[in-house]
Amino acid sequence: MEWSINKGSHACFLCEKIFPEEEVYLSALYDENNEFLRKDFCVECWDKKDNENSFSYWKTKISKKPEKVEKYAKIDVFYDLFNKLENEKDLSRVNFRYVLSLYLMRKKVLKLISTHKSNENEYLVLHIVKEDRDTEVLKPQLNKEEVLAVTDEIGKLVNCTPQISPDNAS
Ligand SMILES: [Zn+2]
Repeated sequence: MEWSINKGSHACFLCEKIFPEEEVYLSALYDENNEFLRKDFCVECWDKKDNENSFSYWKTKISKKPEKVEKYAKIDVFYDLFNKLENEKDLSRVNFRYVLSLYLMRKKVLKLISTHKSNENEYLVLHIVKEDRDTEVLKPQLNKEEVLAVTDEIGKLVNCTPQISPDNAS
């Protein structure tokens, strides 16, 4: 299966309303003490609150069956995160960005151009197809289990786990 939607509380963070199936709600990532925290909001609460300090946000719809259109929406969420993490130096964020790059390469959003080493670090040079520009990704020293653990962590935040192939992560 391409997507594993994680079970979450699916309730509004502010008014605690439970989202029914087919309802559109908003999820936002907040950077709190250097850790990402996801909060879900109903549309009414989202419109009323100040959204300036969210790191990234996206719309979600609880559907009975996974729909194609939702898959593309998730690619955009992962791509947005990948971009926003570009200049982050914190190790867990470097790990996030690397794992997101594996997923986005698989989805052909990114193309691997080359790799190079500098100061003992290995970098991937990637072409962002839709923006027609290149970016670099620091490749952390992660084994297969660690890559899967990071993937799991991203999945819990976004409520949808990116499917990657850690065996091809070279
Ligand atoms: Zn609400």
